[in-house]
Amino acid sequence: MQMYMDGSGFTTKASELLIVSLPAMPHTRIDIRTLSPEALESWFTEQGQQRFRAKQVYEWLWKKSAHAFAEMTNLSKELRATLEESFVIQGIQVASIQKSTDRTIKTAFKLHDGPVVEGVLIPTSSRMTACISSQIGCSLTCKFCATGKLKLLRNLDAAEIYDQVVAIRRQSEENYNIPLSNIVYMGMGEPLLNYKNVLGSIEKITSPEGLGMSPQRITVSTAGISKMIRKLGDDEVKFNLALSLHAANDEKRSKIMPINDTNTLDALAESLQYFYDKTGTRPTLEYIIFRDFNDSLDDARDLAAFVKRVPSKVNIIEYNPIDDGEFQRASDEQLNRFTAFLEQKGVIVNVRRSRGRDIDAACGQLANKNISAENVLKKADA
Ligand code: SF4
Repeated sequence: MQMYMDGSGFTTKASELLIVSLPAMPHTRIDIRTLSPEALESWFTEQGQQRFRAKQVYEWLWKKSAHAFAEMTNLSKELRATLEESFVIQGIQVASIQKSTDRTIKTAFKLHDGPVVEGVLIPTSSRMTACISSQIGCSLTCKFCATGKLKLLRNLDAAEIYDQVVAIRRQSEENYNIPLSNIVYMGMGEPLLNYKNVLGSIEKITSPEGLGMSPQRITVSTAGISKMIRKLGDDEVKFNLALSLHAANDEKRSKIMPINDTNTLDALAESLQYFYDKTGTRPTLEYIIFRDFNDSLDDARDLAAFVKRVPSKVNIIEYNPIDDGEFQRASDEQLNRFTAFLEQKGVIVNVRRSRGRDIDAACGQLANKNISAENVLKKADA
């Protein structure tokens, strides 16, 4: 799911080019970060190396986020050369950075095979949030979303997702001197359609051998894949879940989110209840409010009724229009009426003001300008 901000003025500085470029490498070598600690240990044992070397390398790869074997200075030159001959590290590179007047920072990350994805740092008075991508493009074609207009090229692997967090975390410290506090999987792509890699990235982000962040600071947002919401429950995950609801009647929701045809509100309510029963975590319902589409009191009534079916809280999100102009932002008066109605009905509701409008970093805006994944691929092929 998307949740971003927009702006002008590229401000790329040398210190912000966080990721070390990799030399061109043959494709026969595998990415060392796909290996488990056990597999890495076996490799070292086969090489006649001591087992603690595997631990050292693992620490370089994850905790210290090294993107080149040359950085691993506590290994001998010979060992570094052997690693180089056997593996690659397919790190992401910062392609460009845009800063909004409201301090939001949007970063375009170039992947090892050419495409670009975006991630956003969203500073507020109480938190520093990284909004990250899980796929290049998206297959779900939500009508209000820029990413939904791009074809799905591929899933990101766990390390590519992890790298976005590392880079944005560093931006938070370097630009604002405040540590990153939260992570939301609301950038490009549908995280639950890249389940294994998304959970793999969260495992690394939360592990003491990675970034050691609390899972309670992480939210995975889905357009609503009931089967996978149940799977999250079965896996008893510790992070938060958000459902991009945006309309609480099937006819209306299917108009803007085709996934609703096969994952109806009934199915979603049941799977969210299942998730809650298994994890004890109350899901958040995200509701982007669009002018004259889902901002009436009848819509608020539908939403209040849906909330009653599932233990949940509601985030009302201001919309930032994308270029096609199909949807518009609801007026402040209507937003206030809508919210007051929900509160009257006892719904726990927060309003999320739009951030980063001037740099196309707001909810649903990612990748709608000059860095679409398809354009980048074309350039890479040229
Ligand atoms: S198309 Fe839908 S699921 Fe895909 S990124 Fe956009 S809002 Fe999220």
